[in-house]
Amino acid sequence: MSTNWPAWLPLRGDLQPLSPYGAPQIPADALLNTNENPYPPSEELIEAITKAVASVAGTLNRYPDRDATGLRSLLAIFINELSDTKFSAENIWAANGSNEVIQSIFLAFGKGAALGFTPSYSMHPIIAQITGTKWIHGKRNPDLTFNLPEAIQEVEKHEPTLTFITTPNNPTGDCIPLADIVSLAHVVARFNGLLVVDEAYAEFSQEKSAVTLIATLPNLVVIRTMSKAFAFAGARLGYLVANSHVKDAMMLVRLPYHLSALTQAAATVAINFRSQLLSNIARLVDSREIMSKKLKALGLDAIPSSANFILFTGFAPSAPQLWQELLDRGVLIRDVGLFGYLRVTIGTETENTAFISALTEALKSGEKK
Ligand SMILES: *Cc1c(COP(=O)(O)O)cnc(C)c1O
Repeated sequence: MSTNWPAWLPLRGDLQPLSPYGAPQIPADALLNTNENPYPPSEELIEAITKAVASVAGTLNRYPDRDATGLRSLLAIFINELSDTKFSAENIWAANGSNEVIQSIFLAFGKGAALGFTPSYSMHPIIAQITGTKWIHGKRNPDLTFNLPEAIQEVEKHEPTLTFITTPNNPTGDCIPLADIVSLAHVVARFNGLLVVDEAYAEFSQEKSAVTLIATLPNLVVIRTMSKAFAFAGARLGYLVANSHVKDAMMLVRLPYHLSALTQAAATVAINFRSQLLSNIARLVDSREIMSKKLKALGLDAIPSSANFILFTGFAPSAPQLWQELLDRGVLIRDVGLFGYLRVTIGTETENTAFISALTEALKSGEKK
């Protein structure tokens, strides 16, 4: 992408140096780059979605339910089942992927700076930038784990309106303990900031969800998605769980009828199939542990992960070099731009085996050169 924009194009100056978000979408035998669930919907689910979409198709001349009330009520039931909470649709906001939820958060609350602890989800600073919010990169430990005392220091120093944490964190895979979240939320509350907890991978982790804290900590916002554990990335459905005032603010900045009738219908069916859709989690967690052992057996250093991916290091070639060597062997993983590290998503057994053999080969061919 060129950053040499023509002079006649009145593009905002702060956007001119940027390039579009670009996880490469390249065909490969094993797609292990965007943390999707590798297991496709069952025949039964495909049929149910098809039926639901067909029944909505006859009313597509009309706008959808603007507030997606039915879907939001179902999401509340789902979260209450998982976390033993008492939320209703009033505590839920849904949008086209959690990225849209994040964008709405910035549109509504980005009046001061936003702070996150790098490396973490790359879209948090990108969405800050495109919505005109100043982003501050807080630090993690040299081994990339979260450092609570340092985090508190940074929050106290900058007093950001929005503080972001991701748990399990992407790309490192580690969890931030609930007690640390409580501590941070209290610090942030002193200057009326919001603590935004991105739990895109919560279903893969043993850690209790931060949604259990919202009843006592109204300045805590938890973001969830159906894109990862829920195996529904293609449908685009993300949501937040928060105090009802946060949801009310989301309604100010949302575009009218943002969630299509088709999306609402498909997502409703998927949530009703939740036990089936989430039944692959244990399988993916087992595969993750096997993958981690195999990486270690290759002499690599794999960060312990509570999600459906592993960040690893300790290889001799550069990360872009090894990434290319793997792609040449039909395996697409992710170069997250961290020096010396690559991230691999847990796929099907076939994909995982293909990855380990491609990696074994690539490391051997590197030795010979
Ligand atoms: C994948 C991911 C998301 C989400 O995406 P959507 O598909 O837009 O719901 C959000 N946060 C993190 C940390 C992620 O890794």
